[in-house]
Amino acid sequence: MANVVVVGAQWGDEGKGKIVDWLSERADVIARFQGGHNAGHTLVVDGEVYKLSLLPSGIVRGGKLSVIGNGVVLDPWHLVKEIAQLRGQGVTITPETLMIAENTPLILPIHGELDRAREEQTSVARIGTTGRGIGPAYEDKVGRRAIRVADLADPATLEARVDRALVHHDALRRGLGLEPVDRDALIAALQEVAPTVLEYAAPVWKVLDEKRRAGRRILFEGAQGSLLDIDFGTYPFVTSSNVIAGQAATGTGMGPGAIDFVLGIVKAYTTRVGEGPFPAELKDADGQRLGERGREFGTVTGRKRRCGWFDAVLVRQTCATSGVNGIALTKLDVLDGFETLKICTGYDLDGERIDYLPTAADAQARCVPVYEEMPGWSQSTEGARSWNDLPAEAIKYVRRVEELIRCPVALLSTSPEREDTILVTDPFED
Ligand code: GDP
Repeated sequence: MANVVVVGAQWGDEGKGKIVDWLSERADVIARFQGGHNAGHTLVVDGEVYKLSLLPSGIVRGGKLSVIGNGVVLDPWHLVKEIAQLRGQGVTITPETLMIAENTPLILPIHGELDRAREEQTSVARIGTTGRGIGPAYEDKVGRRAIRVADLADPATLEARVDRALVHHDALRRGLGLEPVDRDALIAALQEVAPTVLEYAAPVWKVLDEKRRAGRRILFEGAQGSLLDIDFGTYPFVTSSNVIAGQAATGTGMGPGAIDFVLGIVKAYTTRVGEGPFPAELKDADGQRLGERGREFGTVTGRKRRCGWFDAVLVRQTCATSGVNGIALTKLDVLDGFETLKICTGYDLDGERIDYLPTAADAQARCVPVYEEMPGWSQSTEGARSWNDLPAEAIKYVRRVEELIRCPVALLSTSPEREDTILVTDPFED
């Protein structure tokens, strides 16, 4: 039996939803370990479409335990909404099927206000946050002034925690020209939502330890991508949490030894939403074509994603920082019909060839991609379910990717449909 961590190995939108769904069918427990209600998965199960942004994908499948780990920041009002919406679609959600770590920090309405007020300031470059308060909630966690799930159980503790947070927030808000926080209204709102959150509160670390000892299969569901990691991403154009696989341990309370297989989700080309460095970005017809064929538009905003050829430098790097054992290569079908394909194999930095993305922002900006060309294929790979369905050039492309990133392909995805997947290695059985 193995426990599997799924992480995005690029800048997010790698197609984690389909792969997580595919794996969650085989898992007993599905746990989220970072991020907030910005995960944005769409799952289609038996023709029914479910939209999840906070709850783990396993929630729509009967007989599984879904877990929100302490590495997540939780918007309790969003939780109530998402539960109600799923119940409306016939999903059963009980304290036996959903558990929330008691030490999970909460996202408050003041966090969203802060996010938006800061993004409106034009004096600094925008980070491009989703405005949902996720970043400010993580700041409060590290600043030791967060309100955590367990604090909701005792009115006196809750008031003391709110007062502690507001000393900081009111000072900050004055500087941003915002009104002071209405303390009593905030406490009342938290008390109103408390019973729902507390119903699912549990010592998640303990439950997971017991599940592991009982030989249950745990799937750790990552959100976003490794290049958005707070430490190893393209800082400051990153998210506010660790995204890489090690976070699955600290974000749920399991030891690193509990992780048996790290599956990196990798798109067969590269995309990025919003601001920040992107050395292999294409601003030409090929980039346009990748975006159109891959439907690279934000699901919520409709904003066009920036596109480029496959950047093996970046994926080799994220495979290393997450300790990826195998990748799921997605959207191979998007490359159908290109006469020639390019892969970025290194960067030229001031006349010197380098094989990693440097940390300094100015050096990142000066990195010029070095490409290798490969012949494309004219046949369709869409819906391929075995290697025999793939043209020889497509297989060569996949093999070259494996070689360059120093990591084997475990799964290959050839369409949005769950069954259109080529299985090389089952991460749970490896
Ligand atoms: P996430 O942010 O990593 O979870 O990415 P999503 O799960 O939102 O996936 C992005 C989009 O790619 C979704 O619309 C998927 O249906 C689609 N998708 C996933 N895998 C494939 C694939 O192999 N081929 C194609 N053409 N689309 C895919």
